[in-house]
Amino acid sequence: MRRTVFNEDHEAFRATLRAFIEAEVVPVYEEWYAAGIVPRDFYYKLGELGVFGIEVPEEYGGAGEESFKFQAVITEEAARAGVSFGGSSVHVALCLPYLKAYATEEQKKRWLPGVASGETMFAIAMTEPGTGSDLAGMKTTAKLSEDGTHYVLNGAKTFITGGVHADRVIVCARTAPPKEDDRRHGISLLVVDTRSEGYAVGRKLDKMGLKVSDTAELSFSDVKVPVEDLLGEEHKGFSYLGQNLPQERLGIAVGGYAQAKAAVRFAQQYVADRTVFGKPVAAFQNTKFELAACKAEVDAAEAVVDRALEAHDAGELTAAEAASAKLFCTEVAHRVIDRCLQLHGGYGYMNEYPIARLYADNRVNRIYGGTSEVMKMIIAKDMGL
Ligand SMILES: Cc1cc2nc3c(=O)[nH]c(=O)nc-3n(C[C@H](O)[C@H](O)[C@H](O)COP(=O)(O)OP(=O)(O)OC[C@H]3O[C@@H](n4cnc5c(N)ncnc54)[C@H](O)[C@@H]3O)c2cc1C
Repeated sequence: MRRTVFNEDHEAFRATLRAFIEAEVVPVYEEWYAAGIVPRDFYYKLGELGVFGIEVPEEYGGAGEESFKFQAVITEEAARAGVSFGGSSVHVALCLPYLKAYATEEQKKRWLPGVASGETMFAIAMTEPGTGSDLAGMKTTAKLSEDGTHYVLNGAKTFITGGVHADRVIVCARTAPPKEDDRRHGISLLVVDTRSEGYAVGRKLDKMGLKVSDTAELSFSDVKVPVEDLLGEEHKGFSYLGQNLPQERLGIAVGGYAQAKAAVRFAQQYVADRTVFGKPVAAFQNTKFELAACKAEVDAAEAVVDRALEAHDAGELTAAEAASAKLFCTEVAHRVIDRCLQLHGGYGYMNEYPIARLYADNRVNRIYGGTSEVMKMIIAKDMGL
């Protein structure tokens, strides 16, 4: 089916990005993969290309676009080429919306130009060793100093994407104890300078997939955070998180769909070349049926993603709809990538083949940004169950 979700600007951006990936990423991707990290310089290149500034308002050095569809194009093109840009999607697709929505004018002037250029890389730290799905249970604290000039931050975070390269991290911390009738009260967002004394980056975590993404542990020991770096109102952080999670989940849904589509493409190429029992694997009826079934699932995911993208750009995507899109598209991707890997036989298990990396990379889509089980809870609640 013809996609109507992208306009000429989106498609022009896609063409530029595709050429950039071919020229600047594909030739060096094996080095990144072996090193387990995207080189810091690459983020300056994304800044120069305008990738980071698309949704940054013009007065702060960006292009001032409002459409989230540009982020979808980035995700689709990276998946198509079988590459990843590391923590850069967290930088723009996750962190930037918080800054645009809740930063003061003075804060925007300080931070947004660096977001657009790639000079100030952002990450967001919600998850803690003891709590992920149940964010209201977080233990990291930020106590206001007696003179009211700064917060004193103590605690630890884990699984933080972009945690090694980050220059600023939006840290979710308790500035007040929970209320008896509201566990979510008392959480605030602090934009912490990673060069602060007492701020430490722990292990770069060894993951089964997303090898070029720098996922790290962070710890804070009496880190002084100026009150000027509080994002939004004190104690209201949880509601801010709730407002941005639908976009994060839509982004993951797009990722699942795009990876499933790429898997079908990789498998179709592979089975045409591989000969077994004297004929191409593509000639077996089972292969055709498997790929046809996968294509049908990808088409369905595409329809869901496109409707959700339209709804989101129109400001209408609800939390339950975003959860539904994430749940569906990531479960489709899980099934499709597994079946496409199977068609590769043993080579599908080798990391030098993109399908093996896709298999490992995709697994986390059903976990981060809220697990599939949490998505079901949100949908069920919306159904009145
Ligand atoms: C590669 C990677 C990158 C990440 N990047 C970031 C990041 O940049 N920033 C950040 O803050 N976090 C990040 N995360 C954390 C991620 O969002 C959490 O891992 C996720 O929310 C799940 O939390 P958890 O790992 O603590 O699992 P848990 O909450 O301990 O869940 C364990 C199991 O219990 C299930 N469960 C939980 N609650 C319920 C319930 N009520 N009913 C039924 N089942 C339930 C879950 O579905 C899961 O199966 C990242 C994680 C990974 C793996």
